[in-house]
Amino acid sequence: MLQHISKSADPGKPRASFSGTWRKLWPYLWPSGRRDLEWRVLATFALLVLAKIVTVAVPYSFKWATDALIGHGHTPHRLFGVVAGPLALTLLYGALRIAMAAFTQARDALFAAVAMHAVRRLANDVFVHLHLLSLRFHLQRKIGGLTRVLERGRNAIETFVRTAVLVAVPTAVEFALILAVLFFQFDWRYTLAVAAMILAYTAFTFSATNWRIGIRRSMNESDSDANTKALDSLLNYETVKYFGAEGREGQRYDRSMARYEATSISSYTSLTFLNFGQAVIFTLGLTAVMAMSIVGIKAGRNTVGDFVLVNAMMVQLYQPLNFLGMVYRDIRQAKIDLEMMFDILAEHPEIADKPGAKPLRVAGGHLRFDNVFFHYEPGREILKGVSFDVPPGKTLAIVGPSGAGKSTISRLIFRFYEPSSGHITIDAQDLDDVTQNSLRAAIGMVPQDTVLFNDTIGYNIRYGRADATEAEVKEAARLAHIDRFIESVPGGYKAQVGERGLKLSGGEKQRVAIARTILKAPPILVLDEATSALDTFTEREIQEALDRVSKGRTTLVIAHRLSTVVNADEILVLDKGEIVERGAHGALLARGGVYAAMWNRQNEVRRAEEILRRAAQAEGASPRPTLDGAAAEDAPAYSEEDADIALG
Ligand code: ATP
Repeated sequence: MLQHISKSADPGKPRASFSGTWRKLWPYLWPSGRRDLEWRVLATFALLVLAKIVTVAVPYSFKWATDALIGHGHTPHRLFGVVAGPLALTLLYGALRIAMAAFTQARDALFAAVAMHAVRRLANDVFVHLHLLSLRFHLQRKIGGLTRVLERGRNAIETFVRTAVLVAVPTAVEFALILAVLFFQFDWRYTLAVAAMILAYTAFTFSATNWRIGIRRSMNESDSDANTKALDSLLNYETVKYFGAEGREGQRYDRSMARYEATSISSYTSLTFLNFGQAVIFTLGLTAVMAMSIVGIKAGRNTVGDFVLVNAMMVQLYQPLNFLGMVYRDIRQAKIDLEMMFDILAEHPEIADKPGAKPLRVAGGHLRFDNVFFHYEPGREILKGVSFDVPPGKTLAIVGPSGAGKSTISRLIFRFYEPSSGHITIDAQDLDDVTQNSLRAAIGMVPQDTVLFNDTIGYNIRYGRADATEAEVKEAARLAHIDRFIESVPGGYKAQVGERGLKLSGGEKQRVAIARTILKAPPILVLDEATSALDTFTEREIQEALDRVSKGRTTLVIAHRLSTVVNADEILVLDKGEIVERGAHGALLARGGVYAAMWNRQNEVRRAEEILRRAAQAEGASPRPTLDGAAAEDAPAYSEEDADIALG
């Protein structure tokens, strides 16, 4: 069904018509292969017509009872061959009202399953589609905004379907029946007067509602805006504190709320205008037909029962008419919300599997970049002709200044984006030609910033492989050196990590990310600053674990700290999207170029830290933090071993 719905997305396209929205929604209401739901839809329509026939019969029984009471009714005493007195007719009136309620409620109950099934299916399709859309789409859209679209869209399906089927259609049936009854019971003038009233009422309601929809839309937009601002601000709780910006945040939120306040007030005042206009039009129609009936009674054409009938019918008509404005408003509003959902469904995933794409077959995991160019936005090239080879089981490290494009390389390997030119292959298969699922299954990623699910630590580790056993999860935690931490927290593996994993430190989150990648055990590993949030001591321990994990696996390491890449088979130095140096650690040092300069700079920092640490120890002071943010105690001295490495 997803394919059925997701036709071309054109951002500039005009809003779909009412029938267009219906067409898109129909497959959800009449899902193929669900006979039970089809049966319910048909039964709903049958009950709907029945309920309306009974509804129109109710004022009739009232008329008969009145005429019987007054005594100048003719037919009422003989109903379907049975002589009926005022009491029996009043009982009939009661019975008809009960039947009306029974049919209406049975119809609503039957239709609930159809409406809720549509809600579930469409919401799920949109949710799944959101995950198919590219990283670029998600970076551009605000998450809060997306969840609001989903939430409002979900309510809109229900409103749209229920209002249209359970209110709008029955109202139309009732109008038609009442106009017919007026024609046969009275004459065409009654029909004309009521039809004119209904038309005037409808035209006024629709045009006033259309005018109000603009107001409501800006009210919704300012509501969304205020919500997004609040969410963003709370997600940045710590940053707000760092900059003492509570006041600024409050003012920003208040500006959004002020817009919401102004648009809400317009919305309410315009509603009072609408309600008053409706009351005037209806009363004019009601008074006109009642006056006509009085004239008829005086002329001997009508009975008092007819006067009662016409009044009862008009009063009965008032309810659906009164709903009309709300129905129109709700349907229009629901249509807007629904269209926002359909717009998401129509959004083409930027990265899609080619038709007939085959799963990636990993033989050894030979990763190759061949003259790859890439930009996020036209006019700003991020990678400029990057080529490298990582033979099966080997480790390639990429180092370079911040913003050089290192993480971009890992995003391209994961196919979050596609190169603007050049090729990326794994075992001679172009990444563009294989299915995304198989590609991502073959790659393990430990990202720079790990965000965790708001669930338990165990859940977050098991995310690497959903069917992993308890023992495997524990083993992965042990290899990632997080087992002791987990055992020390109350609840252990069942401890909650908080929203986005905020209850864990950066290093702990990173170790969870490492553990779940160990569990995934992919043939290709991408470690993007995998140990950056760890202190030097833990980094060494984890480095060992990572070395063990990456043994026999093709590994790409992106690093700032050169000490973590000395053992790589090849090191690339990336600067402004170009490879400026490449080779093994020793050869690069011997060359005395950019890499050697970086290495010396980092060693100087370490040496300075060591001197500070020794001085502090000599004074008996507590260790100072290092420039890496770790306690100086953990930072190893610049040792002979390092010097050896430095000399290659
Ligand atoms: P660091 O070491 O600081 O993580 P990096 O070498 O990994 O840096 P990248 O994250 O690859 O750098 O970013 C390379 C450049 O691309 C940066 O200038 C960055 O601003 C830009 N960039 C990254 N993501 C996007 C994006 N989604 N849209 C536009 N530009 C982006």
